[in-house]
Amino acid sequence: MLEASYSKLGSTVDAPLLGERFVNRNSALAVATGDRGRVAIATVCANLANGKYQLERVSCLCGSRDNRCIAQVDRYRIPHCTVMCKRCGLLRTDPRMTAAAYVDFYTNHYRAIYERPDHDPDRYFAQQVIRGESRARFVMHDIVQPATSASVAEIGCGAGWNLEPYRKRGWKAVGWDVDDSYLRLGKSRGLDLRHGLLPDACVGGERFHLVVLSHVLEHFLDPIADLRALKQILFPRGALFIEVPSLFAASQLTRYFQNAHTWSFVPQTLEATMRAAGFRRVELASLSWTLKLATMLARSNHEQANKDPHQAATPHLHP
Ligand SMILES: [Zn+2]
Repeated sequence: MLEASYSKLGSTVDAPLLGERFVNRNSALAVATGDRGRVAIATVCANLANGKYQLERVSCLCGSRDNRCIAQVDRYRIPHCTVMCKRCGLLRTDPRMTAAAYVDFYTNHYRAIYERPDHDPDRYFAQQVIRGESRARFVMHDIVQPATSASVAEIGCGAGWNLEPYRKRGWKAVGWDVDDSYLRLGKSRGLDLRHGLLPDACVGGERFHLVVLSHVLEHFLDPIADLRALKQILFPRGALFIEVPSLFAASQLTRYFQNAHTWSFVPQTLEATMRAAGFRRVELASLSWTLKLATMLARSNHEQANKDPHQAATPHLHP
């Protein structure tokens, strides 16, 4: 049983702070999914129960393991232990699946569970481009766009809907994702999309003036290390747009917890994480659609030893 796995790992299974709704695995799903989704949920639950998906303990980003249990199930009633760090307040999944288990989960079950039953790729792309335009306007508010040569990269770009507004404005726009059906959809619309994630983006030596992480950071296993690595594709003092679901969405809290999320941020913990990785906040806002989102524009503090000839073209960020 899962509880046995927890205790073997030295994890507590104390009653969740949020109450019965966040421990009961038999109540209705908080978010709809289709037949494929229900089969995938059952498979994931079985994999957790029979040990095919191994669990591991993980410390908070501040180093502490002094926790309070918040919830034991996610919105699909999948066992998912969310804890709050008593030292810094950051929420995380602990214990969580190992990296190998996450790879299997994302490869075989993620889309089936998280995609809505009435999903229509073209309609979804059009809806997401509208949101991408809002995100781009938020960024443009604080970036003075140079006449030419501006560039943007997105990690976890889906079909590239966040990149389309920049491309329309003449930016070089490149996206990485591992979902081949989304990549095909974006490429058919003329976007420069590539298979891979952050490590793959770092291989070619390309640098960008802006990097976008939209609903991605909360999936990272080691966000501070990943944010530091991300500087390899960012010009010195380049900008990073981050958007995460914020726990400050109390009216829809039953929809909030997702087994794919390893970390749960609020603006304060997001900013602390960014600072720890060497970024400083430029702007913070809440863009609201179905969930309240913490949306941050940050600027990298890193400098480059050898002055890059392209740095002169870096879009200027207001202080
Ligand atoms: Zn902490």
